Amino acid sequence: MPQTRYVIIGSSHAGLSAVEAIRLTDRDNPVFLLTQEDTLPYSPTILPYVVSGEADPEKIFLKDEDALKGSGVVYRRGEKVVGLDLHARSIILKSGEILDYDKLLLATGAAPVLPPVEGLEGVSCHVLRTLEDALGLRRAMEGSRSAVVLGGGLIGMHAAENLHKGGLKVTLVEALDQILPGYFDREAAGLIRDIFRENGIEVLTGSVVTRVFEDRGRCIVSLDSGEERTADLLLVATGVRPRIGFLTGSGIDAEEGVLVDERMRTTHPDVWAAGDVAQAPDFFDSGKKRIHATLVNAVEQGRIAGMDMAGDEALVPHPGGIAMNTYRFFGHRAFAVGLGGENSGELSPHHLVEKTGPRYRKIVLQGGRLVGASGINDGMDPGIIAELIRRKIPLQGLEERFISDPLGTGRVLMSRTWR
Ligand SMILES: Cc1cc2nc3c(=O)[nH]c(=O)nc-3n(C[C@H](O)[C@H](O)[C@H](O)COP(=O)(O)OP(=O)(O)OC[C@H]3O[C@@H](n4cnc5c(N)ncnc54)[C@H](O)[C@@H]3O)c2cc1C
Repeated sequence: MPQTRYVIIGSSHAGLSAVEAIRLTDRDNPVFLLTQEDTLPYSPTILPYVVSGEADPEKIFLKDEDALKGSGVVYRRGEKVVGLDLHARSIILKSGEILDYDKLLLATGAAPVLPPVEGLEGVSCHVLRTLEDALGLRRAMEGSRSAVVLGGGLIGMHAAENLHKGGLKVTLVEALDQILPGYFDREAAGLIRDIFRENGIEVLTGSVVTRVFEDRGRCIVSLDSGEERTADLLLVATGVRPRIGFLTGSGIDAEEGVLVDERMRTTHPDVWAAGDVAQAPDFFDSGKKRIHATLVNAVEQGRIAGMDMAGDEALVPHPGGIAMNTYRFFGHRAFAVGLGGENSGELSPHHLVEKTGPRYRKIVLQGGRLVGASGINDGMDPGIIAELIRRKIPLQGLEERFISDPLGTGRVLMSRTWR
């Protein structure tokens, strides 16, 4: 193996997955893994449980120092990268140190963005992205009795449930007319919303926040309906943006995120990007590059980047990103893969809805192929669904059977393909 110095910025899902992939081919060369946070690697998805108290913040780490050292990783925590010099093949740390690389992976993820709401800048509000955010929120919960959560995406929903479990009276405000847009259609989202309401969380959809202000230490949220909600805590979860500020002027091409191809290569040789920071080809529209900011995507892209960085010949280029998520809430299980939100357009969706339970199943077919599926408390296997979509497996006359028994038929179709 030629001498190569790997540097990875970001020690979360994409970064760790890349380390594992590099080590499958290259066991010798050093891998420098940097994070701006002063912690061991962890998953942001655990943070809501740190907030509720269900997860012990001392026990959430994905790797310890020994495991990292054992795989030849030089772990540099608390090291913020502030610049990149492509000519010198080096990154610049906030401390002033310059670190050289031969191959560099950008896996810096995304950071919360505050919406342009009058007064928001002037009040104390929380976001939830880092362990520090979660610990800060947990501290603020002591002595608090109520919370308002802005945003009904995955992070807002997880946070609302766990603030509630932590003993607070919670109101969630979503400007769109449904929660979890992009994953679930209105009907499925309505079932999830009802479960939140039954559990005591107030969920307001189609409700726009017009102003936020503080009065005697409490936060007051004015809504476009003219109503107000007053709470001890305000959590903003209205969206995230890729962390690419440190690349300004570097010459790396970026739009919303860092532009990459199906091998996670950026426009510059020796630099790759993966995870929430990367804007990669889309599965359904290969001419477009999109960000799919999910855990599965970060792991997959990190693996592909790592394999390519190490020159692994087994690499199969990324087939393109698809929306994919599993979601557990109040003892229920939901998932969504591929197309099927409100934008089904000309596609033919098949529904099964049972309000009790509740149970929900939606299967979206196009031209004899599966292009999307979602479910609540349904036995479908999201892994099989994703593979059927990605491998473009024709249902070949099994459409009806698949609609009534997606799990069994999906297994049959997959085993035929594997053979
Ligand atoms: C509360 C919450 C709940 C979520 N729930 C789900 C879920 O249910 N399902 C799902 O699919 N996804 C969920 N997500 C999203 C998921 O966590 C992300 O898609 C995933 O973590 C992306 O991984 P990543 O490695 O790309 O980036 P990140 O996890 O964001 O990690 C970025 C890393 O880069 C480091 N970094 C950033 N900038 C710098 C810098 N300048 N210098 C040095 N280091 C830097 C950070 O310290 C960190 O180590 C959730 C996220 C949150 C916050």
